[in-house]
Amino acid sequence: MASVETVQGAVDARDLGVTLVHEHVRFRDEAVAEQWPARYDEQEELDAALEAVRAAAAHGVRTIVDPTAMFGGRDVRFMRSVAEQSGVRIVACTGIYSYDYLPHYFANRDVDVMAAHFVSDIEVGVQGTDIKAAFLKCAADAAGVTENVEKIHRAVARACLQTGAPIMAHSMPAVPTAPRQIEIFKEEGVPMERVQIAHCGDSDDVEYIERLLAEGVYVSLDRYGLELYQPIDKRNDVAAELLRRGHAQRVMISQDFCATIDWFPPAAAEALMAAGAVRNWSMTLVFEEVVPALRESGTMDDATFETVFVANPARWLTA
Ligand SMILES: [Zn+2]
Repeated sequence: MASVETVQGAVDARDLGVTLVHEHVRFRDEAVAEQWPARYDEQEELDAALEAVRAAAAHGVRTIVDPTAMFGGRDVRFMRSVAEQSGVRIVACTGIYSYDYLPHYFANRDVDVMAAHFVSDIEVGVQGTDIKAAFLKCAADAAGVTENVEKIHRAVARACLQTGAPIMAHSMPAVPTAPRQIEIFKEEGVPMERVQIAHCGDSDDVEYIERLLAEGVYVSLDRYGLELYQPIDKRNDVAAELLRRGHAQRVMISQDFCATIDWFPPAAAEALMAAGAVRNWSMTLVFEEVVPALRESGTMDDATFETVFVANPARWLTA
């Protein structure tokens, strides 16, 4: 198996071990953080990230795939600090996390120029470091696949073809965005086994997810704890059914946890928790509640666990 770039350098894919394929060690608006740094406490953020990652490590997690891209405050030096101090590997990405907005810089440059930025992150290094991105991130949400979103998808696809790096596409099943996202990747010639469609676990429509699987992509059930999109029992039912129908080789499970996130003022975040929109959201929920429930349902034995949490992330990352 090939090697995978982490924030501490390349490792053999066979050594990745138990992997959480979608977690954020920090999520914040990079423009606000750059302009008003005093509003953020870097030490507090680092402490929160270390606490979350160490808790995951206590459940055997050896690697965290962190899809924080542009507009999520991607900071590979911060990620490297977390990896160094926790002993857990972190795999970083390149790409743009936007539901539509593009800065003038990219709006007035073509798809191939955008792709060249991503390729540079993968082949040369990110943010002036020698830390290389290992995969590509793009997103489509409530607004659907807008013109700008399509441009980002095509740039990501072209960077994938140039470098071999896989793609993680944030999707919104309620719209649904994934069929069009997949269509764009196919138009660009991306092999479907290089594509992971994120947030499929927000849907309780197993047939919809199976239609995506029929294209050959990976589907990620990765928002455990975010009850507002779908409660855990329904998420587990979907996971169990996909495993029962023989899709273990294409399913990944994670939490999309953000050790810190600046989207809400503290009082609003607390209100969301109190309202039950978010419950036990962490980097350990899948080990505490999901894997036991799936074992109970008879759909996850040791071999399936190994497939979902070890083999699939490694295969997706390396092709
Ligand atoms: Zn995410």
